[in-house]
Amino acid sequence: MHDIWNPWHGCRKCSEGCENCYMYFLDRMRDQDGSRIYRTKNGFRYPLSKDRQGKYKVKSGEMIRVCMTSDFFLEEADAWRDDAWSVMRERKDVKFFLLTKRPGRVSSCLPYDWGEGWDNIFFNVTCENQQRADERIPILFELPFKHKGIMTAPLIGPVDIEKYLAAGQIEQVICGGENYDGSRLCRYEWVKLLMVSLIMSLHCSKELTKPRSMRLPVRLSVEIVTDFAALGATKVPLPVTA
Ligand code: SF4
Repeated sequence: MHDIWNPWHGCRKCSEGCENCYMYFLDRMRDQDGSRIYRTKNGFRYPLSKDRQGKYKVKSGEMIRVCMTSDFFLEEADAWRDDAWSVMRERKDVKFFLLTKRPGRVSSCLPYDWGEGWDNIFFNVTCENQQRADERIPILFELPFKHKGIMTAPLIGPVDIEKYLAAGQIEQVICGGENYDGSRLCRYEWVKLLMVSLIMSLHCSKELTKPRSMRLPVRLSVEIVTDFAALGATKVPLPVTA
């Protein structure tokens, strides 16, 4: 099961992928301002909350997505991040999915006992186009995380990641389009390019000579494709694994 934990809300737009940010759109629908950044009151310790029987509401082994209405490495959240790390430290049995467009800030934001990384943290950088992929993935490679992935969402142009996959550090590639407020097309051929890169990287890799259980579990998850016209369909969710 996938859950969401928003220890803070609000953000600053920082790249092309932010143009039609869904958080800004939804806040506007509620007459609120997405650029107002604040620590959430009731939600901050959500992964530690318990039911009447004294059991954690977020179950052991679950994956929880962090900061889906902000960026975990936002500068304006620096004062709150240590408290958020404490929550994740206390729930080592839960997997936390972190995503950022600001990988350059990450090394100065890690907790004192981070070491080579915690097993329960899954870290992704957003690569909405080739420029951001070439800028952020090399930084991702230098960072000490045990689980690394690439989020190509919103996908607003072709992104070739074949050479990055060959490095063997990427466990997962997630792909999706925009959903709200003047959303831009996500073209089927761009998604296909990602899938072909994943297949090529597996076929060209010596990984294939290893037993299946030892191979890198690279997966491509396509959450939504919005180039409906090109596909000749009205709604086409494409679950793809490679
Ligand atoms: S980083 Fe994410 S949450 Fe922040 S403005 Fe950009 S799209 Fe919105």
